[in-house]
Amino acid sequence: MNFLKNFLQTCANVEKHTDTIAYLASLDHISKNYPIIANAILDELKSQRNSLKLIASENYSSLAVQLAMGNLLTDKYAEGHPGHRFYAGCEHVDTVESYAVDTAKSLFGAEHAYVQPHSGADANLVAFWSILIKRVETPAVEALGKKSVAALTPEEFETIRQEFSKQKLLGLALDCGGHLTHGSRVNLSSKMMKAVSYGVDPKTGLIDYKQVEEIAMREKPLILIAGYSSYPRLIDFAKMREIADRCGATLLVDMAHFAGLVAGKALVGNFDPVPFAHIVTSTTHKTLRGPRGGLILCKEEFKPFIDKGCPFALGGPLPHVMASKAISFKEALDPSFKAYAKQIIENAQTLAKRFKSKGVSLITDGTDNHLLLIDVQKNFGLNGRQAESLLSSLGCTVNRNSIPNDPNGAWYCSGIRIGTPALTTRGFKNEEMEKIADILYDVLKEAKPNGMAESVISENVRSRAKREIDELLQNKPLYPEIKTGDLVHV
Ligand code: PLP
Repeated sequence: MNFLKNFLQTCANVEKHTDTIAYLASLDHISKNYPIIANAILDELKSQRNSLKLIASENYSSLAVQLAMGNLLTDKYAEGHPGHRFYAGCEHVDTVESYAVDTAKSLFGAEHAYVQPHSGADANLVAFWSILIKRVETPAVEALGKKSVAALTPEEFETIRQEFSKQKLLGLALDCGGHLTHGSRVNLSSKMMKAVSYGVDPKTGLIDYKQVEEIAMREKPLILIAGYSSYPRLIDFAKMREIADRCGATLLVDMAHFAGLVAGKALVGNFDPVPFAHIVTSTTHKTLRGPRGGLILCKEEFKPFIDKGCPFALGGPLPHVMASKAISFKEALDPSFKAYAKQIIENAQTLAKRFKSKGVSLITDGTDNHLLLIDVQKNFGLNGRQAESLLSSLGCTVNRNSIPNDPNGAWYCSGIRIGTPALTTRGFKNEEMEKIADILYDVLKEAKPNGMAESVISENVRSRAKREIDELLQNKPLYPEIKTGDLVHV
């Protein structure tokens, strides 16, 4: 219960460390009455600090981003949007939300931003329905000479409702790197509309724009989705927009994974989705390094529809999280974020190069972004689950991941996805990345399957890998000002 006291005993510059002081004070306060929660936070901090976080979708947010969520903004209902609320007393939430919107707009050069989605999945849901309302419902209501959907008879409403499920959504297949919300059978996205998918070239692993165009022209989707959860290459959004225009689709780019690379201007020209897409959805917590949440950017013509996310599909927004998003957007406007985004890619490419120098083949033969995909079945005779659990046991977290046409199915998988955003935040650079590739390679090449979910290595290899991983972690501590010795259970 003395987290703050211990810190202050050795802190030479209190002014400089107000974030750490606030963080430790909150831990002290929680630990007084809620030890189970305080201990879980401590354990999470220790676990994140003591592992090589190579999960491509995770990062480490700043203490300022975290602290902005811990205040009474959470107590406020604010359905609607700034200047147009369904609740009274929203002036200060208006200030927060407007600031977040304006900062997002200037960060991404977008015509409009909507910062209310609670997650990336919510952002996609709002985007899908905004397109359906703009392109299917609104013209149908107008054709009936009615002012709004509320003025329709039940029969008229039912006729329009049925039209929604006839529409098509075209996105990258899940096993080729698409996301569940891009039309997977287990997700709502394939149940509210007909979902069709494009894949990747079986030889190169790359998106084949000709194939996308053929499918798009045949299926005439209402929505064309570009974006991914595990595709290690860039997407040409100018080409995607051309295809969308040709088949009459609205182009939705889901940049959940690479928003930070766009914000940091590491992806520019045809690889920056904002100028080309009608709508861009995102998470704020992956490469963008903000709080857990969603974001939508759109062209002016979609603004009135996107801004109705609440009450249409969402409940009240989370004002404390919008405050935190605003801080993360501001942080991403700092010139240092450009260097960060560039380093994320450099780190991924260094890993890729090192693996390749050892004869490991990579899906698509390399990476242009923050992640790489290794077929561990082909390279090491392990399924994804066996590789994932072995690396986890050594303090190195990676995701098992499907590869195109995965022979091991979606549960065991044949691949692992390795991402660099979190370790780059922690200060890891090329030299450390080479070391990490060496460690992973040494471990995976020695591993022997032991059942479907486990694999084993000799004690020798295990202790060497553990020692090397610990050394890397100790050299680049997470929140270095907070001493591990102080983090004792309450
Ligand atoms: N879109 C993509 C491309 C993603 O990778 C993810 C999450 O992994 C999401 C959407 C969903 O984000 P969330 O988990 O915040 O709902």
